[in-house]
Amino acid sequence: MNFFRSTKIVATVGTATDDYESTKSLIKAGVNVFRLNFSHGNHGDHLKRITYIRGAEKELNANVAILADLQGPKFRIGEVKKDIKVIKGNNFIFDKEPKIGDFNRVYLSHEEIFESLSVGSKILMDDGKLQFEVKDVSRDKIQTEVLVGGLIKSNKGINLPDVVLNTNPLTAKDLDDLKFILHQEIDWIALSFVQKLSDVQEVKKHIKNKALIIAKIEKPSALKELPEIVGACDGIMVARGDLGVELPPEKVPGIQKEIIIKCRQAGKPVIVATQMLESMIESPSPTRAEASDVATAVFDGADAVMLSAETAVGSFPIETVNIMDRIISSAEKHIQEHPVDGPQHLMSENFVYNAVSRSAVSLAESVNAKAVVAFTASGNTAYRMARERPNLLLVVMTPEISVKRKLSLLWGAYPYLSKVQGYEAAIQEAKEIIIKENLAEKGNSIVVVAGMPFGISGSTNSIRVVEI
Ligand code: PGA
Ligand code: MN
Repeated sequence: MNFFRSTKIVATVGTATDDYESTKSLIKAGVNVFRLNFSHGNHGDHLKRITYIRGAEKELNANVAILADLQGPKFRIGEVKKDIKVIKGNNFIFDKEPKIGDFNRVYLSHEEIFESLSVGSKILMDDGKLQFEVKDVSRDKIQTEVLVGGLIKSNKGINLPDVVLNTNPLTAKDLDDLKFILHQEIDWIALSFVQKLSDVQEVKKHIKNKALIIAKIEKPSALKELPEIVGACDGIMVARGDLGVELPPEKVPGIQKEIIIKCRQAGKPVIVATQMLESMIESPSPTRAEASDVATAVFDGADAVMLSAETAVGSFPIETVNIMDRIISSAEKHIQEHPVDGPQHLMSENFVYNAVSRSAVSLAESVNAKAVVAFTASGNTAYRMARERPNLLLVVMTPEISVKRKLSLLWGAYPYLSKVQGYEAAIQEAKEIIIKENLAEKGNSIVVVAGMPFGISGSTNSIRVVEI
């Protein structure tokens, strides 16, 4: 029987994987979700990728989701002359004059930064390589002292860790990208630089249930409203790249654990992202520390781990997915033998649907069932089952192709399209799929979870043991 990997792989596509054959190879190597990064490329590039992904999905009879990642309010400085160094202790100015910058000033086009900064605020540049402290701020000039100096380069990104900016969560570019995205077969939309709950609520109004929303946690201010943000969106990304710039990097591992457990409790998928196999951008094998990082996300119970530049622009995209698949599988086998090293049981609670899901898992374990089968129109029963992180195969049957695709991101879920109506017919269909896919043998039992009345989106309230 096949070993099923529970932790899913998200891979960013880019110039290194921009053809049909690479797309197919990525799926074969184990990609469950493709990320389109709207910080790079134009709509033509993304359309081409979507066509390849949907084509390969069909040809390989695979199930993959597409996640469109909006750039969000990412700020950048203007142009700077070549080989300019700023020196620690010197003064440096950010202003509104669109002239080429030098060692004592640079152009900054973003009005809202001038409005929101105050004396003592930090400005970080180029992933935090350069640091500035605000000494004085007026309507068109920010005077700073250089705290950490170095080479200053054109158009580098800026992070402002300790201010909540009064800015729209969707920029003009995001709105334009959204218009494009909502006309495509996109399952998830990720929102960058979420600062507060109202950002997610605002974006929901634009998306109107046409896709599910992932809030990227990469601002310290978002951590203050984490439970509310988790409650309002459909999934979360631990965006360690920017988070580790805006916060001291040593804080990130603990925050990763905290976010994962909150998401599990809420039954919402969580992705751990950035630099997971960074060295494989240039090298065919990972560092031991990277292998350990991927395994840690698995031990923590993340739904998915993400590759960025590794698959988008790296030299070894397919090898990277292969390695990630091996590290995950090995970590999951370790958890099977040493359950204390894996995700722990959640605290018990009162909701019927969660109690039913938990009972289904313990029932399946006590009768030594080969799989739990969740019937779900909306996907909710699958989310509730996955939340328990069962040490069991989780087969999901849904009549909705869109739900089937979205569930590619969910921990442990192996979704299949259900074509029949009625509970008994659905059980028969599930048995046939399980035999055909070699997931169990005649005589094995499976545990079936569903909401009754059957086929209507609602509560998860019924369990049955079925012999194959
Ligand atoms: P990005 O987001 O790759 O779009 O910056 C992820 C992160 O910041 O970790
Ligand atoms: Mn980011």
